[in-house]
Amino acid sequence: MITQSARKLAQKHHLEGGRAIVVGAGKSGVAAARLLHALGAKVRMVDANEALAPQVTAEVERYAELQTGPHSSEQFTDADIIVLSPGVPAKKLTPYFKGVPGRKIVAELEFASWFIDAPIIAITGSNGKTTTTTLIGELLEKSDRHVFVGGNIGTPLCEYLMDMEQADVIVLEVSSFQLQNCRQFKPDVAVFLNIAPNHLDYHEDMEEYLEAKLRLFARQTPDDLAVVHESLKPVIGGRPFTEAEVVWYSSAKRFDAPHLPGEHNRANVQAAWRAVQRFGVKPQQAERIISEFRPLENRLENIGQADGVTFVNDSKATTLEAVAAAVKSFGSSPVRLLMGGKFKGGDVAELARRMEGHVAQVGLYGGSRDIFEGPLKKYFPVSWDESMEAAAKRLFAHSHAGDVILLSPGTSSFDQYPNYKERGDDFKRIFGELK
Ligand code: ADP
Repeated sequence: MITQSARKLAQKHHLEGGRAIVVGAGKSGVAAARLLHALGAKVRMVDANEALAPQVTAEVERYAELQTGPHSSEQFTDADIIVLSPGVPAKKLTPYFKGVPGRKIVAELEFASWFIDAPIIAITGSNGKTTTTTLIGELLEKSDRHVFVGGNIGTPLCEYLMDMEQADVIVLEVSSFQLQNCRQFKPDVAVFLNIAPNHLDYHEDMEEYLEAKLRLFARQTPDDLAVVHESLKPVIGGRPFTEAEVVWYSSAKRFDAPHLPGEHNRANVQAAWRAVQRFGVKPQQAERIISEFRPLENRLENIGQADGVTFVNDSKATTLEAVAAAVKSFGSSPVRLLMGGKFKGGDVAELARRMEGHVAQVGLYGGSRDIFEGPLKKYFPVSWDESMEAAAKRLFAHSHAGDVILLSPGTSSFDQYPNYKERGDDFKRIFGELK
């Protein structure tokens, strides 16, 4: 689907016959290499990792010359364009980019956006991106718009350009890893859900993390819309972060969302509604679509009951903020909480205070015991087991009908599982055995 206007742009940027360098052989980087190749560029893919999976190497080599191992200035001296994959630390690579003008160094998302005429809705935040992005997609799709939903979830934007029918509206989940390398990316509607200490194992500090998120708004014009949660007002402070019209939204209930529990989901619904209003979605349509919308897998997903105890899989809760939101979603039902894994940052003592009155017991498992146990023990009975299975069985042995056993780990899964999906699947397997 390479359009005539895309070809013209490619010529303008000397891509046809020019030298393009893609940094990072992840999904987005490979998609960028493929698009650049289709536009006629000579593509070089560079990746610091010398041990790329053989199937990745084979895929990259269809479109690009591949160089792995430590970076060098020679890799970049002949560049007409450098495309950065999400998470590539551009700051650290700058010494190698000497002589390449800044406008020629571009993030994958931004590069793809050059070729897109359709309006773009982009959603960022520490928690709730996928839920809100998916809901926005459904609100538009079910109101007869042809929509592409992707970016940080599912399909990279470069891949959309190669493989998919042209959409009327592009809905993108955008992470800070993508935004930190963006300079000119300009969505028509930009949504900022919240910010919590997150990825502090990666970003230098909160200020750098916030600065990355605010890049989403920096190039917007007065015709554009910024949809921002009101809790971010004091965080953003006096920063002149956008020229767009700003809508501050809250968690007030406007629509019934019977399947989406919790105050945090009311906020997500509000954000989605504000984002789609300008695309002609009517309140009655929105009401119906929102009332039918179900939580995505691994996000407060009710997986069933055993002996009257409800099991809820919130494996995607990798931040303490998401855990706090989760435990508050069950009204007066006592929550027996499973936590553990690779800690990503945050204030555990504060989380413990916020969970008081909602949590009856905490079953820790796997990694980060040293971080969680001390602060949580001041408020709740806490146990620790090596495996999630042993911890879940321990909680189940203490439960009564009406209780909730909630997996909301507050960590990334990498100590014991390849990803949060497999962590959630394991929890479902354990539930299956207990049932
Ligand atoms: P993301 O894509 O930002 O990780 P998800 O929609 O996948 O967001 O949800 C991740 C986790 O965050 C889930 O545990 C979910 O219940 C929780 N969550 C969703 N929305 C919010 C919110 N607005 N505030 C706090 N936590 C949230």
